[in-house]
Amino acid sequence: MEKYGLYINGEWVNSTSGETFESINPATEEVIGIFQKGNKEDVKSAVEAAESAFEKWSSAPPPVRGEILFKATEILKTEKERLGKLVTTEMGKVIAEGLGDVQEAIDIFEYMAGEGRRLLGHTSTSELHDKFSMTVRRPVGIAGLITPWNFPIAIPAWKLSAALICGNTVVLKPASDTPLCAVELVKILERAGLPKGVINMVTGSGEEAGTEIATNNRIRVLSFTGSKDAGEFVLKNAGIKRVGLELGSKNPVIIMDDADIKLAVDGCIWGGFGTTGQRCTAASRVIVHKNVKEKFEKIFVERAEALTLGNGIESSTNVGPLINEKAVEKSQKYVDIGNKEGARILCGGEKAKIDGRGFFYKPTVFTDVKPDMKIAQDEIFGPVVSILEASSLEEAIKICNSVEYGLSSAIYTNNIRNAFKAIEKIDTGITYINASTIGAEVHLPFGGVKSTGNGTREAGIEGINEFTDTKTVYFDYSGRLQRAQIDVE
Ligand code: NAD
Repeated sequence: MEKYGLYINGEWVNSTSGETFESINPATEEVIGIFQKGNKEDVKSAVEAAESAFEKWSSAPPPVRGEILFKATEILKTEKERLGKLVTTEMGKVIAEGLGDVQEAIDIFEYMAGEGRRLLGHTSTSELHDKFSMTVRRPVGIAGLITPWNFPIAIPAWKLSAALICGNTVVLKPASDTPLCAVELVKILERAGLPKGVINMVTGSGEEAGTEIATNNRIRVLSFTGSKDAGEFVLKNAGIKRVGLELGSKNPVIIMDDADIKLAVDGCIWGGFGTTGQRCTAASRVIVHKNVKEKFEKIFVERAEALTLGNGIESSTNVGPLINEKAVEKSQKYVDIGNKEGARILCGGEKAKIDGRGFFYKPTVFTDVKPDMKIAQDEIFGPVVSILEASSLEEAIKICNSVEYGLSSAIYTNNIRNAFKAIEKIDTGITYINASTIGAEVHLPFGGVKSTGNGTREAGIEGINEFTDTKTVYFDYSGRLQRAQIDVE
């Protein structure tokens, strides 16, 4: 079995503790690699390496940094097939989505490489004569990047590409369920010519390696994607550093009585069961107008029951496994809670094995779900969809907003007023009209409101805000003392 190292200062090394852990294929339960359990000392070494590489990397012209990211984009393109299969093998999502995960990394590297020729500030007028003002962007310093397992190539790529193009050096800690995807991504950046020390990667637990990254005060910006509990912990313990949080959600789809029901069913199947419900943007609540609820339910359940559960590497599979046994237990726990709360199960509600193996759970649909039930409030992160009824758009929007999260939302309607009201009133960072809650594109900002995050956005033009400091420049060419707010005429 192959053993993989930590990546510190351009070298693949063992952890100082000598401890290791395994990564497991969730469809077959086979071990796919052995990884270093990095600890606090290892993170400190990684920070030191990032610190020594900072001066040179941050001084390089951004288009020169962009050249390396373009090179990484090219390598990712040639390796897409192999990496897509790896995503499926290590994380479990079906192969089309595994390839999509890699495509997202290609897209963001290409986008951020181009950003090297912009990194725009702005110019402004001055209240005084012969004075020019503008803003310029500067790198923040060492960036700590902590990532989850559900987009094991795409999410590290989102953070790395933005942090690097802005001139920061990096310490990455990937999720322990998908370390191999991160190792492969780092190897690609190494091949693309990233100088040693610019990227460092420490695999290991959140409690130990993650906590050190969050609390280390030489790290100046922390970008964290994961669960709300861990996000709250890192925010509380991060000290004075910038923290970007992208956390969980409970995303709603509204289906109005004027909607194209077939289109809505397609969207709810894709949004609810794509990635086995393990997307932060998963459509886990469907709020249906009472006039079309019966019709929607019938077709939706037929379609959910027809989905083929299996190893995502087979092209015939529609729904792959959950990430691990704990995730299966979590889905089961919520199904039991839903049953106790009085919701009515329409299909699924059971664990499964394929050829006696794997962490599978059947696509599950609950109806007669009330907005305050736990299954309508908590993020389950599994293939469990709740159907709720509403009598009007106003009631549907109220239900949308009744949860603590706010990442993505969708509305199916053919009425323009309904669509614009939804855009205006739903408390989420993203709203789709006549499309499901999933499907972000990298040139647009991504992030949520309420407990989903603390206001930062990844990707798109706003994605670079997280990794740059703004310096304001006043350039006085009057040749005399000019006092702002006093010598104004
Ligand atoms: P998680 O919080 O368990 O782990 C995420 C990362 O944080 C891992 O690398 C983990 O090791 C690390 N970590 C855990 N505890 C830590 C601690 N105390 N200090 C520092 N680091 C710590 O989440 P997960 O199970 O990997 O991912 C699923 C969650 O991520 C879901 O809630 C999902 O909604 C969320 N998510 C959000 C987005 C988004 O953009 N909003 C995207 C993907 C996933």
